[in-house]
Parts: sequence; structure tokens; C-alpha cells
Amino acid sequence: VKYRTWDVRRVKTTCPYCGVGCQMDLLIKGQQVVGVEPRHEVPNQGLLCVKGKFGYGFINHPDRLTSPLIKKNGTFEEASWEEALALIVKKVKTTKEAYGSEAFAGLSSARCTNEENYLFQKFMRAVLGTNNVDHCARLCHASTVAGLATTLGSGAMTNSIQEVLGADVIFVTGSNTTETHPVIGAFMKQAKDKGAKIIVAEPRRIELAEEADVFLQIKPGTNVALFNGMMHVIIKEGLMDQQYKDTRTENFEALEKTVASYNPRYVADICGVCPEDIEEAARLYARADKAGIFYSMGVTQHTTGTHGVMATSNLALLCGNIGKASAGVNPLRGQNNVQGACDLGALPGDLPGYQKVYHDHVIDKYEKHWGKKLPDQAGLTVTEMIKKGEEGTIKFLYVMGENPMISDPDINHVKKALETIDFIVVQDIFLTETARMADVILPAASFAEKEGTFTNTERRIQRVRKAINPIGNSKPDWVIIMDLMYKLDYPKTYNHPSEIMEEIAALTPIYGGITYERIEQEGLQWPCPTKEHLGTVYLHKDTCMRGLGLFKPADYMESAEVTDADYPYILTTGRMLYHFHTKTMTGRVEAIQAMYPHSFIQINPTTANRLGLVDGDCVQVTSRRGQVITTASITDIVEEDVCFMPFHFADGAANYLTNTAVDPIAKIPELKVSAVRLEKVLPP
Ligand code: SF4
Repeated sequence: VKYRTWDVRRVKTTCPYCGVGCQMDLLIKGQQVVGVEPRHEVPNQGLLCVKGKFGYGFINHPDRLTSPLIKKNGTFEEASWEEALALIVKKVKTTKEAYGSEAFAGLSSARCTNEENYLFQKFMRAVLGTNNVDHCARLCHASTVAGLATTLGSGAMTNSIQEVLGADVIFVTGSNTTETHPVIGAFMKQAKDKGAKIIVAEPRRIELAEEADVFLQIKPGTNVALFNGMMHVIIKEGLMDQQYKDTRTENFEALEKTVASYNPRYVADICGVCPEDIEEAARLYARADKAGIFYSMGVTQHTTGTHGVMATSNLALLCGNIGKASAGVNPLRGQNNVQGACDLGALPGDLPGYQKVYHDHVIDKYEKHWGKKLPDQAGLTVTEMIKKGEEGTIKFLYVMGENPMISDPDINHVKKALETIDFIVVQDIFLTETARMADVILPAASFAEKEGTFTNTERRIQRVRKAINPIGNSKPDWVIIMDLMYKLDYPKTYNHPSEIMEEIAALTPIYGGITYERIEQEGLQWPCPTKEHLGTVYLHKDTCMRGLGLFKPADYMESAEVTDADYPYILTTGRMLYHFHTKTMTGRVEAIQAMYPHSFIQINPTTANRLGLVDGDCVQVTSRRGQVITTASITDIVEEDVCFMPFHFADGAANYLTNTAVDPIAKIPELKVSAVRLEKVLPP
């Protein structure tokens, strides 16, 4: 749509894509979003990536769901809101009567606002009576939440995005930052220009590796060994921060004992790198005054994900890098509001603010406020819901803005589970692969059509503002959930999401000081416990949130699945710059979709030669769980025995191949390591 600058309205809001939470103006002509411009303020300071700047075409896309749909004899028919909600209410009542509350499960959404996530978990707990509520953080940073809460007392990014610019050393591991968090990636490059050193430990030679002073091309799943090896060198060479260790930490002896055997030569063998590079990385990190660790799913999505996270924290504590500016342990959260969805209790064991469902004083507080008896045992995680669904014990599944048919491991089993569950409600903005399997679809409004807040990866709670009216008969997710609760005899209603935030603040200590008024100009970073508190730029300043920082060492363990003669290559999966998550939004942005319409697999040239593959050939990828056909992309950024697929695509979906083996602590699946074989095939 062409427009003139004086012809458009501007509405300030937060980017709906990644966890950086860039501030932007939507440019509106009539009821159409026609452009986006960056705001020159925190956290992005005038920067936007391609998704934020050009990825708005999905908002007014003709594919948007505009009316409730009810499946009758296998096909969807349009229905009124009254009809659709009445059917859901009837099914809730009959399911509860026949099977009890534990037959319900709900997936909340990292795409939705804080207020919507809060309301969704309240609906599941106070109205349906179950803690079976989770969301896709289970698939990305569940191990971060579990690991850092144990070692430091809070499972969030310790420092702030802008602090990247002040770091002396930036250690990036398990994160392709320039593609997945592009604005943070740009700040890392700016820091490098100002003299910062960069260490990268990744299975692929990613863009940041070209900027790195030390690049360790590690085998997927070997990070625990690498971190232990670096700590071995640091302790042996006396490079640790002795005073910090003595005054701010505990359990050092256990760490010292564990890492004693991880000499660089031994670790180099496990990781597939040079011992000298491990030593150099260790020295660079330990000698820096301010060194920040930045990681993402390359660390978390393993059966040892929690150990990997705790190892990053061990390393930071060893060198006194927790509780100071431009340092810390910084898990980069993937989706726009995955931090907020966790904060607001879309987790089976946590009420808002990580208050445990099994603590009496917590349950008492919520029961008093919500006026309902609440379940006090942790519920099912995403992966457990799928398993129980397949076994037939989950009868009713409510999915708000998630797409497990693309995002979850071992899609064949996800499909079977969804086919087995009696009744499924999907609330979304598009007819996703998961929505197609629903009994009722409820059309939701996009971020541009509603008020609310998102919390970005640096814990900053920022406003989302309504720029246009909801498309067709769609409604904001909070309105849909509130209406449904009301019809299920829960009387409390809200006139505006700010009223939901008032309730959140009253019940959630880390959000205690948040009001819409206070975040009108600029967001606030939690913990923000009171109305006078200015928010927290970096955590653990004088003392860790748990008191002393806890060293929690662990030995390296192999991934659940290893290669053999039948499945000789390691498949690792991930994200790319242009697409976002299951592509429901970016797949409807014309220019982006035209550039990257199909899935692909990156294969090393030597491997490709051996298999007779050239760039663009069709290749069949087979794991112990499934098979897909995709396109070969021949590149030496992967090593001979490793290949890489982005998981965004429905055609040749990588998650048909991935493993459901989970980390025993965080229950996160090992999406980063599967064993596969590759065969050249003719185009289908
Ligand atoms: Fe949006 Fe993330 Fe890009 Fe910023 S970096 S514009 S938040 S996708």
C-alpha cells in the first residue's frame, strides 16, 4: 500500500517477533498497517531487523481467521461466537463430570501478552481446576529457568541488552545471535568495533564466528565438556576471582573436584576442537574485567540442558562475572513474550512470579484472591501432555496461539496425540497446522489490534498498543478467555488489560510496581517490587537472589542419540534470520516468503560429494522417528558429520526427525541432536 507520511497515523508498540522487544511505530492508513519505523530508545536505539521492519504483511493478510469455526463431519463451518463458546462450555462441563480436572490440558502462548498469559493460566487453574498448563518455553528455555533459579535464584537474563556495548569480552555459545536476535547481534559487532573480544563456541561457522577472536567449532551436545574444560584451565592457571569466590559463592570444592579431570586435551577430543583454542578462550574470558556469556538453545535443548545452563553460571561465578554491569549470564529468550509467559505462570509448577504451586502460603494467597480451590501438585509439561494425549488420558486440549504440529519434536507422535484427544480448541490468528486438527477454532486479534504488555529478554515490561480494530470478528485473546470464564460461572471481568495488570501486580512480587502509567514512556525491568522502585538493570548486584551463588558442577554426558552405521550424521536444528518460529506470520509476508519458501538442509561439501549431492538436489533425511524430503544446501559452515535444518517449515518439517528424549530436570527435549541418514532422491 502506498502512503504519504502526512497521510498515516503512528502508534508506538513492541515488535511481535523475537525477545529483543524492539520499540517501533506502526504506520497506519485507515485500518491497514502500511509501514514500520524504529524508535530511538531502549532497547533497540533506532535499530530494527528485517522481520521487525518489513514483517508486518501478515496483519492485514486475507488468510486471517475472521470468524469462529466449528468442525462438522470433518469440515469447518462458520459459527457465531455464541455458538462456539456454548459448545466449548458444554464440552468443559461434560469432560469435567466424566473424567475430572486432570483430563484438561492447555497450551498458553509466548506470542500473546502478559495479561493474556496470566488470564489463560488463571482459567486453567481456577476454572478448569488443573495445573496442566505449559507453553513453548518448555521447548526452548525450560532448562534456563530451572538451572539459573538453582544456582543464582532467578532464571532470567542477568544483565541488559545495552550493556553488551560495555563488555570487554563477549562469549557467545549455542546462539546464532545475528540471525535469531539480530539487534543484539548488531550491538555485539559494535562492541567489537569498540575493542571488545569475542569468543564463539558453536557447531556451525555462523556469521559471528567471522568476528571472533577465538572460534570453537564444537560438536553438537558437547558444551558441558567445553565449559568444564575452560574452568579446568582457569583454576589451574590461577585466573579465577578468588575474593569473589570466597565472599559470594558456595560449593567451590565440588566444582574443583569435577573439573579436575577435564584437561584441554581430553575436552578437545570430546568437542572436536584444538586444546590450545580451549586454553585461549579460557584465558580471554577469565582475564576480562567484564565478560558476558550469551547463550540460547544450543545450550538448553539437550538432555543435559540444565547442566549446560548451570555450567555457564559456574563459569561466570568462578570469574566474578555475576552482579556487575556488562557481564553476567544472558539467556537470549526467543519469542517476543516467552519471558512474560514464564513470568506470568504459564508453567505447570509455577503460579505468576515463579511462586510454586506446592507451597501452602502461595496457594492460600491465590485461593483467597481468586475465590476458588486450586490444585497444589505440579501439572503436565508440553511433552507429557503429548504423551498423555496419545495414551488417551487427556480428553480436552485448549491451545492458545501455539503450533505444536510444527514446533514439537517427533511430529508423528504429536499428530497421533491430537487425533486421540476428544476435543480440541485452537485460538489463533491463522488456520495453522494445529488448528486444522481442532474441533473449534476461535479467531484471535493480532498484536496490532490489542492493548497489553510483552516482557522482553532483559526482563523489560513494555507496552503493546492497539493500532487498528480486530480483523473481521476476531477478538483479543484476553477478551475470549474472559468471556469463556464468565460463561463458566467465574464472575470477575475486566474492562481493559490494565486492570489485569493491577491484579498481576497485587499477586506477583517481581511485577509489584508495574502499572500502565509507569511504563507509558519506557518499560521497566523486573524485579520491580513497589510503585517507587525504578526496576533492575542487572540482577544479583550485592548478593545473588538466592544468597550465595551456587556452584553446581556436572560431568559431560553424551546426547541421548548417537550416530551409528544406519544413521551416520548428526542433525542439529535451529532458526534463521528471515523466518520466525512456525512461520505462521513470516510465511505470510510476501517478500520474506519469496526469498525462503522451502525447507533446506545444510550439508558439508565433502559429505555431499560422497553422497553424490549438489546444491539444490532433493535429499531424503531419515531418523529413527520419521522421514522428510528437503533441499540440499551445500556449505562448509557445517562439519562433515553434522547437518543443519531450520525448523520453521511445514514442508520437510525438521521435527518429524527430532528426538523426544528430555532433560530429566527441565523436561526440555533434545531438539539439537538427532542421528540421521541422507539419501539423494528425485524430486517428488
Ligand atoms: Fe523484532 Fe527482534 Fe528484529 Fe527487534 S531484533 S526488530 S524485536 S525481530
